[in-house]
Amino acid sequence: MSHISTTDPTLANLLDSELHRQRNTIAMIASENHVSQAVLEAQGSILTNKYAEGYPGNRYYGGCEFVDQIEQLAIDRAKKIWDAEYVNVQPHSGTQANMGVYLSVLNPGDKILSMSLTHGGHLSHGHPANFSGKLYDIQHYEVDPSTGYIDYESMEQIAKRFKPNLIVSGFSAYPRIVEWDRFQEVAQELGAYHMADMAHITGLIAGGQHPSPIGHADFVTGSTHKTIRSGRGGLILSSEEYASKIDSAVMPGIQGGPLLNNIVGKAVGFAEALTPEFTKYAEQTVKNAKILGEAIQAGGLKLVSDGTDTHLVLIDLRNSHPDSTGKDVQTNLESVGIVLNANTVPGETRSPFLTSGIRAGTPALTTRGFMEDDCSLLGDLIVQIINDPHNSSIQKSVSKEVQSLCKKYPLYS
Ligand SMILES: *Cc1c(COP(=O)(O)O)cnc(C)c1O
Repeated sequence: MSHISTTDPTLANLLDSELHRQRNTIAMIASENHVSQAVLEAQGSILTNKYAEGYPGNRYYGGCEFVDQIEQLAIDRAKKIWDAEYVNVQPHSGTQANMGVYLSVLNPGDKILSMSLTHGGHLSHGHPANFSGKLYDIQHYEVDPSTGYIDYESMEQIAKRFKPNLIVSGFSAYPRIVEWDRFQEVAQELGAYHMADMAHITGLIAGGQHPSPIGHADFVTGSTHKTIRSGRGGLILSSEEYASKIDSAVMPGIQGGPLLNNIVGKAVGFAEALTPEFTKYAEQTVKNAKILGEAIQAGGLKLVSDGTDTHLVLIDLRNSHPDSTGKDVQTNLESVGIVLNANTVPGETRSPFLTSGIRAGTPALTTRGFMEDDCSLLGDLIVQIINDPHNSSIQKSVSKEVQSLCKKYPLYS
């Protein structure tokens, strides 16, 4: 940071404060992670200078001989990780990846069936405030509110009535294994496309901890910064059949020049994901979430679906703490150094800003080295704060425990 501290001390100080914040709090936002120093170097590299509209070997600009090789490496590594015929690594984000798929095979006004946002879907799956809700005709399926599991039968009935052009599976706040083939069967029967959005579990699938949608979906989209640690961005996978449609939907359809500094970050992170250490990491992430969930349940709190198969747990506050909002709990936990987010729960009656739930994930803390014992302790600390939010001696002791966990597992040391 020596250059920026000379030219722009204000920003250098802010970056330094953010580093201090990341080091001294526990990141439990289920969609966050800590990339390696190698990925940081790649993303902060000279590739930010380069224009390369087009694809490797077929660009609209000169001087692309090295970036061609870099993008090709990112593509080849992704193909190997997820066993895909075709990969596009250019989407700037997961939302852009979804947009690329929609644009490749749908027309404005076409019908999309997806999970509703309050039950664990994503803005880019047809929320009215998002382009997807404005351009397409959207209907939703939900989870069964009594079990918290996807109601596949009702999804099928809604699909048969609605006759969607495309069905979206894959979620932002669903703690259980997704049965991709159930969606594929319905899509096939109706002649609809199936897009599996693996955004949250991209790394769990890479590490063999969740079944892969490849072979059970026409399109698979993902984020590269959640459970896989490749820096912020998106990607699209499919069979060779859709390659040219997707390529042109992404560029020139929705984007101009690719963010090559992000693409080289993806390439570095994908190489890391191909190592045996990454498989262990993915496995530990899931183990940690299970233990975390058990500790929270032991404290008398309810989890949506009564547990987890993945990297996240969703706490439903309505039974045990009907007067607490997710937002209150988020604020109270943040004040003791545990950073997570309020989240809607199935059957939510509060606004998406207040909510009745809390989502907590283990990808980032597992990267720091947290093990089962630490997650059990952490679950207990969370329970103490939720059960007694205004007790200053509990706040003090929990803060102390959080600080000692942060010291035990230093970040970017
Ligand atoms: C996170 C997420 C995305 C993409 O989010 P971006 O912030 O645009 O990268 C897409 N779909 C789902 C289900 C997600 O959870």
